[in-house]
Amino acid sequence: MKITGVDTFLMHAGAMPPEPGAAPTRGRPTSSWTTRNWLFVKVHTDEGITGVGECSGWPRVIRSAVEDIAPLVVGEDPMNIERLWHKVLVSTMGHGMTGTVGSGAMTGIDMALWDIKGKALNTPVWNLLGGKVRDRIRVYGHAATPERALELKAKGFTGVKTGGVADPVGRVDAIRKAVGDEMDIMVDAHGPPWFTTKDAILVGKALEPYNLLFYEDPVAPENIGALVRVQENVDIPIAAGERHSNIWGVRELLEREAVDVIQPDTGRIGGTSQLKKLAAMAEAHYIMVAPHSGSLGPVAEYAALHVMASIPNALILERVEFDTPVRYEVIDPHPEAVDGYIQVPDRPGLGVDINEEVVAKHPSRGNVTTPGSPGDTSYEPGTWEEHVYFQQRYRRQARLRRRAT
Ligand SMILES: [Mg+2]
Repeated sequence: MKITGVDTFLMHAGAMPPEPGAAPTRGRPTSSWTTRNWLFVKVHTDEGITGVGECSGWPRVIRSAVEDIAPLVVGEDPMNIERLWHKVLVSTMGHGMTGTVGSGAMTGIDMALWDIKGKALNTPVWNLLGGKVRDRIRVYGHAATPERALELKAKGFTGVKTGGVADPVGRVDAIRKAVGDEMDIMVDAHGPPWFTTKDAILVGKALEPYNLLFYEDPVAPENIGALVRVQENVDIPIAAGERHSNIWGVRELLEREAVDVIQPDTGRIGGTSQLKKLAAMAEAHYIMVAPHSGSLGPVAEYAALHVMASIPNALILERVEFDTPVRYEVIDPHPEAVDGYIQVPDRPGLGVDINEEVVAKHPSRGNVTTPGSPGDTSYEPGTWEEHVYFQQRYRRQARLRRRAT
């Protein structure tokens, strides 16, 4: 079998709809994902078997990277995945070995090669990765409000994540009171550059009584020394890793045990091959794996299901449960969460295909959020013009004022 071509499918995915019970945010939408894009790839072969994959990191830019890489794999045998992965790495390493662009591009192609191998051998990808450890994968949803958390609980979800650095303690308190003690709650601070290590520890200590499953990106995750300081001072499992690429990108996070939970982004970690290797590296440090999926599309979610089925240290998978209808239209079939779990697919390969007509109906537009723009909820009004570091000063003052009254 020979690879004959690689096609890219870039689309605008847009924001999630506002949550029930969400307060108006000064006329701004409640989600900053208005510029979200998804990039899918299809690898074709001379035997008529095609494989599908997904790339994230900066989808509009990564499309160009995939087009650059495609001639390196055309004419090659798609079964030799490891060899092809390293051929691309060596050909592109001058651009940086751990960047999200190269790694994101290789992710989609690698994912598609595993899909082809599974279809050619008439077996699911999880079987090629060592077989099943489990038949279903636990997932968690997102909630900014108690109302949305209760919707998730009513659907059978056993985990919910809330986030932001504006008032995470207030949000967790409201959600814990609404859902009770049996549901796992997680907090994602999104590691903004103005959230200092001391801020992260202050907030983390205030969150300790709520029995969280993890505290995610408490500081900018590129600063591993700061993450270690939070790890040493806050008695909540620490999670990070969604912004990192491939095994060299996460190596120090794991070796220094800065995290208890590693969160590889299934669309930019370097593909199914790298995700499986990362899981083994984490296992050696007793670290659990909870793949990032927030801004990703549904093909990457499928890839995560196959890897999580095959590894012992899979904790929980992020799931955008109340997304725009396009998530449910662009692939077939769509995995449903039942009682908070998704069944591992048993079809050959990844077991999913994209609907190219749906992609064509949603042309890409924009792929960055301008600070202070209508789509952005990260900044207090008027502070962008001053300095981003004022964000946290205002919020800390607000928190301390509330505590004093
Ligand atoms: Mg996150």
